[in-house]
Amino acid sequence: MNSAFVYSYEFVFVDKILIENSDIYNRMSLEERDKKVIWHPFTQIKAAPLPIPIVRGEGAYLFDDKGNRYIDGMASWWVNVHGHAHPYLAKKISEQLFTLEHAIFSGFTHEPAIELAERLLKRLPGNLSRIFYSDNGSTAVEVALKMAFQYWSNKEQVRTKVIAFENAYHGDTFGGMSVGARNAFNMPFSKLLFDVIHIPVPVKGKEDEAKQALKKAISENEVSAFIFEPLVQGAGGMVMYAATVLDEMIAMCKEKNVITIADEVMTGFGRTGKFFASDHLKQKADIVCLSKGLTGGVMPLGVTACAEFIYDAFISDDKMKTFFHGHSYTANTTACSAALASLDLFDQPEAQSNIDRITKKHEQFFQKIKGHPALIDVRQLGTIIAFEIKNEEQTNYLNSLSERISSFFIAKGIILRPLGNIVYVLPPYCIQDEDLDYIYNAIELFLEELSNRK
Ligand SMILES: *Cc1c(COP(=O)(O)O)cnc(C)c1O
Repeated sequence: MNSAFVYSYEFVFVDKILIENSDIYNRMSLEERDKKVIWHPFTQIKAAPLPIPIVRGEGAYLFDDKGNRYIDGMASWWVNVHGHAHPYLAKKISEQLFTLEHAIFSGFTHEPAIELAERLLKRLPGNLSRIFYSDNGSTAVEVALKMAFQYWSNKEQVRTKVIAFENAYHGDTFGGMSVGARNAFNMPFSKLLFDVIHIPVPVKGKEDEAKQALKKAISENEVSAFIFEPLVQGAGGMVMYAATVLDEMIAMCKEKNVITIADEVMTGFGRTGKFFASDHLKQKADIVCLSKGLTGGVMPLGVTACAEFIYDAFISDDKMKTFFHGHSYTANTTACSAALASLDLFDQPEAQSNIDRITKKHEQFFQKIKGHPALIDVRQLGTIIAFEIKNEEQTNYLNSLSERISSFFIAKGIILRPLGNIVYVLPPYCIQDEDLDYIYNAIELFLEELSNRK
């Protein structure tokens, strides 16, 4: 019998003894302790391999408890921008902790939140003028949707429909799921999600179809808002579409006073080559959602930035027109200080030159790999490059392929977890050219192996 099982009895029923008897505790690996008490996200418990305990980070690297080094090729779920355990971020956050760690944000305020709002608004499109804080990307989206719905309610107009793209991902809360793609991830909740008009994504060749669907949706319905991931649909498989067609679609919404919401939770902070994906656009969304890279990938924080006309609709003698939304950790002071420190780093010229360097490296590899017989498609924008792998076998193969992909790269010291049959590289900006080359080589090797197996 395995020793972890024997100890589990004590662990559950006599944890006091366990703590006193730290000898037993010390003999258990982190994986074993994890398996007893943790429930991991997006993980089928039965089939999951044991998680790898990460004990240290440095730059683009993560280190496990056995001393193995991994290149963080997906920026720890797209959050990390300046690298792990960055000394400047650590210093600034620690200073904040010794001054004020957190304070209530209703009836009170603090400088990190104010300064962060000022500095974000300077960077964001000029039509935005107000910052509402929450804790993560999903809440940033919930806040945006609630702002849009209540905007129309405060105006005493019935506009309850939302338009979203097929294949979208906007988070895991109920509002976020509702506007997201209706797929396996939210199937158990499908009856509980609110009505959303899903329209095709304007990928190359489908622009007209998407525009027609939008036109129909906004002319036949009382639409409150149109939400989209600008230029890149992240979780949907790094699906990319052009700024020009999005510009046209935003303009169509403006004509009908439909509120436009750009979910920049993934695309923000340099991912698409420019600071925001919105910077590729001529038209400006009325609401922008930020999170992930906002604090440099160090602390959870969400931002919903909106245009003044939306804010204005909530100013009233009627208390019922108040925006009744908030979280215990709204505008967490420490998280705001992390975001400010991250913006300091973005103010250094190296930040953009690193983004440009990665973009160029990705572009070169794109040219080299495109047309590879094992690939359906390669897509690249800024620091994101995605490879859609041919997948001729049926359904279950998808899962086994994605597991094969993860374990192939882990064995090479690279963290790349695919989205189904789509492998992508989305690294921290401090990643060195040698490490990018090493990742590209590994990808070529993987595709080679796949082709040879056939
Ligand atoms: C990740 C993501 C979210 C959700 O953010 P969480 O912080 O994970 O809740 C929402 N929208 C987009 C576009 C995302 O990529």
